[in-house]
Amino acid sequence: MMSSLENGGLYKCGDSGRRTVVSGTRGGGRTTHVDIHCHAVSPAAAKAAGTPARPEMDPMGHYSSEETRAVNRHQAQLTLPKLISTSERLADMDAMGIDVQVLSPSPGQYFYWAESELGVQLAETVNDHIAEMVASEPDRFAGLGTLPMQHPSAAVEELERCVVELGFRGVELCTNVNGEELSAPQFHPVFSRAQELGVLLFLHPTGFSEGRRLSSHYFNNVIGNPLDTTVALSHLIFDGVLDQYPGLKICAAHGGGFLPSYASRMDHAWCVRPDCRSKAKHMPSSYLKKMYFDTVVFDPENLDFLIHQYGHEHILMGTDYPFDMGDANPLALIEKLAGLDEEAKDAIRGGNARKLLGLPLKPAFRA
Ligand SMILES: [Zn+2]
Repeated sequence: MMSSLENGGLYKCGDSGRRTVVSGTRGGGRTTHVDIHCHAVSPAAAKAAGTPARPEMDPMGHYSSEETRAVNRHQAQLTLPKLISTSERLADMDAMGIDVQVLSPSPGQYFYWAESELGVQLAETVNDHIAEMVASEPDRFAGLGTLPMQHPSAAVEELERCVVELGFRGVELCTNVNGEELSAPQFHPVFSRAQELGVLLFLHPTGFSEGRRLSSHYFNNVIGNPLDTTVALSHLIFDGVLDQYPGLKICAAHGGGFLPSYASRMDHAWCVRPDCRSKAKHMPSSYLKKMYFDTVVFDPENLDFLIHQYGHEHILMGTDYPFDMGDANPLALIEKLAGLDEEAKDAIRGGNARKLLGLPLKPAFRA
């Protein structure tokens, strides 16, 4: 393992891999630590799904080199027990200092490529599995569901079932639907109902849909994930969806992708070009200021920039558990934020998520 001195980089290898609880965070009197970004897998849905009719409908799998596929196979052996059950997961949560995981489906289980009827069944199976996990440890888990977005009217029905019957706090949406932008008119009923219900939309990519140039070095995750989020958020803003549904609660994964760190370019374009201003009524970055971003950016200075631009009230602690591209030590990252008082750090550790999702106030951490 290289140190930052050896590799000369911004990031010290292993910084996000050590699961050591920051001292002094256990026990009563502290804020509840909430992980907004962590995943679960339904084995039943995986078994029933089969494979996409066209391989490019699974861009993360399709646009990957043989070297990447070999690493993924090895990683899958390590992560599968954590993804499908709660025993290892709870031990890991304790080691990371996480009280509550807000479980969302693994991005490989969107199944948007499945034909409509199967897609609806798979979404129900995934959501029922998450509901069972939450019911097994209601003090430690909350749920976000998935929707069969390839069948928008069924997606609205499943959204209602997720919230009203299963008690989920929102749903996870991929940043595109089989290459279609989320801003396309057929998806507006989903946004309309989500706004009415007041629930969270967690936007999470699964590779860049046009990933032909991103096959090597896991680029379709490393670059493709934040890129797809960037494209999705840009369309939601510039196509006027966020003007139509101003009450949407959106959290974008991985620090919101590249866009929140470089929003000034779209603001400039909106100012100087009519074709960039035809649908979005306000300065593009003003829409980002209403969104939420997780802490999965690995670098305290990058996180500090997001806090400075969008306010600590809009930052939610996340891990991307249990994947290797996640941050297994998020409390340490928050601890490194210079110039942020404890109250603001507590908001990021869990206070913001608690308010946004209506979670219990008491820390549920196991001694
Ligand atoms: Zn993730």
